Amino acid sequence: LVQAKGVRKSFGTHEVLKGIDFQVHKGEVSVIVGPSGSGKSTFLRAMNGLELIDAGSLIVDGEQVGYSLSDGRYREWGDGDWAKFRSRIGMVFQRFNLYAHFDALENVAASLIHVKKLSKAKARERAREQLDRVGLADHSHKRPHQLSGGQQQRVAIARALAMDPDLMLFDEPTSALDPELVDEVLETMKALAEGGMTMVVVTHEVGFAREVGDSLAFFDEGIVMEKDEPELLLKTENPRVRSFLDRVR
Ligand code: ATP
Ligand code: MG
Repeated sequence: LVQAKGVRKSFGTHEVLKGIDFQVHKGEVSVIVGPSGSGKSTFLRAMNGLELIDAGSLIVDGEQVGYSLSDGRYREWGDGDWAKFRSRIGMVFQRFNLYAHFDALENVAASLIHVKKLSKAKARERAREQLDRVGLADHSHKRPHQLSGGQQQRVAIARALAMDPDLMLFDEPTSALDPELVDEVLETMKALAEGGMTMVVVTHEVGFAREVGDSLAFFDEGIVMEKDEPELLLKTENPRVRSFLDRVR
């Protein structure tokens, strides 16, 4: 579902991705760890086209995103194509970015109405199903400030799921949460993984990687320094990876 080969991306003179090779097959959960500034978020954003890559090849859900090695040219995207492509890729951020003046149900329904063009009634029905899926059926009328951080993050997950994505990207979904709220979000993600969702998750929760990850990748300075089955990577003798893992555990 994701095939990255030699993906490069610079901001000005600063090369942030220096040749990322990365693959995710359908139904797999890939977990990414790595130091701050190693390019994890940039790579996630590249996968849904929020950042255009400079070189290499990135194929996501059958689409060439950005630069194409084969003909050396950018793929031309119309605005409508982008919107359609993005709606197939769900993204969940560290900060939930919910609409403060909407309740949970409206937050989930909004893009169903505006992007998927569902009727209000249909959108609300579908939004209710998604809130139920993340265990928030009883909180649908609450606004973000009336929900805990963990519940807000689950609303954000429901909002992404409502679009029926082929791939879900998570960028440190629990790192802004109080420790006691982390588990409910990880449990929601675990259930999603067990349901067969293809997921790429940037997180330092290595327990999550061990339990549900099919692979664990260590990003360092814009490259994938190591990628393996989680159990194996967690036993690595690479000193750089080792010292990082010992710090986050
Ligand atoms: P963290 O663990 O702190 O989230 P990260 O691995 O996600 O780090 P990125 O956010 O991908 O790292 O950033 C990698 C580098 O790219 C950083 O040095 C950052 O300052 C730089 N960078 C990211 N986005 C931009 C941008 N839009 N413009 C300029 N520089 C950027
Ligand atoms: Mg980041």
